[in-house]
Amino acid sequence: MDCVFCKIASKHIKSAIVGETERLIAISDINPQAPTHILIIPKKHYSTLTAGRRSSTSTCTSWPAGP
Ligand SMILES: [Zn+2]
Repeated sequence: MDCVFCKIASKHIKSAIVGETERLIAISDINPQAPTHILIIPKKHYSTLTAGRRSSTSTCTSWPAGP
């Protein structure tokens, strides 16, 4: 699959990882639009936002609470 986000999530493309769970990876944006600009990417590929809707909801709510 030729998906840049899957390549980042699988670490085939090097990125500045700032956090990671079993299902998600958080990286610093390479072209930040704010002083802090982080992308949170699901490790599972979804072709659209509505694909696997239930799965993506549980994926997005799986990020651990902050300190
Ligand atoms: Zn993908």
